[in-house]
Amino acid sequence: MVFLRFALKGGGSIVQGMSEPFYARGLHFTCRRCSRCCRFEPGFVFLSEEDLDVFTGGLGLKKTVFIERYCREVPINGNLRLSLKEKPNLDCIFWEEGGCRAYLYRPLQCRSYPFWHSNLVSPQRWDALKSSCPGVGKGRLHSREEIELFLRKRDEEPLINRR
Ligand code: SF4
Repeated sequence: MVFLRFALKGGGSIVQGMSEPFYARGLHFTCRRCSRCCRFEPGFVFLSEEDLDVFTGGLGLKKTVFIERYCREVPINGNLRLSLKEKPNLDCIFWEEGGCRAYLYRPLQCRSYPFWHSNLVSPQRWDALKSSCPGVGKGRLHSREEIELFLRKRDEEPLINRR
């Protein structure tokens, strides 16, 4: 199951309520760099303008060149949303033997995983990630503040729709 590269069915938002979120005491996660989320199955890595700036600055490319070389448009709700391309074998366009070759410039979607609205709707949803990501539930404890910073950033950096 691809989860870092966003499967469209993985949407959703945090249920806001009076009670504390289940992650109020933080959540454990450390990426094991196994690459399971970057390869083998179809998925989308959507980009914001900020992501595009970091990518193009880091790689020294004009936006038009970067988009032509590395991006595709995905029809969603009548829009065309910008996503990274995949290779024919379904690996992310930036994945190569040894890992992500754009790791330093990776977009917020990748940097913020697994702390996405869609993964935090319930403890059950969070626990379900463990079967596909060996880093979830283990390693470093991320505080509620860290988690909510990621959530806020994702809200504040809208994804690029080209129509
Ligand atoms: S540990 Fe999880 S987030 Fe890290 S590469 Fe593996 S599947 Fe992806």
